[in-house]
Amino acid sequence: MPPTGPAKPIRGLPEKEIFMAHVISPACVSCGACKDECPVNAISEGSPYTIDSGTCVDCGACANVCPQSAIAPE
Ligand code: SF4
Ligand code: SF4
Repeated sequence: MPPTGPAKPIRGLPEKEIFMAHVISPACVSCGACKDECPVNAISEGSPYTIDSGTCVDCGACANVCPQSAIAPE
């Protein structure tokens, strides 16, 4: 198969197509599970762990593995 060319704009996003970062709540117990899942290394250790909003691409992978359900879209 030939290359499919430039990526098309993602539809269904808010008007300005701005990604809203995920954020970690105080419910975080610093287990570290989310950090291992992040494809862009946006999560830093701490109590609670924190997400760099400028790096996060809002993929949701971290939220899916959090045992505390402490991660949600901003
Ligand atoms: S997976 Fe949840 S509880 Fe564990 S470090 Fe990340 S935010 Fe905290
Ligand atoms: S939503 Fe995705 S990119 Fe953002 S911190 Fe979680 S795993 Fe990383």
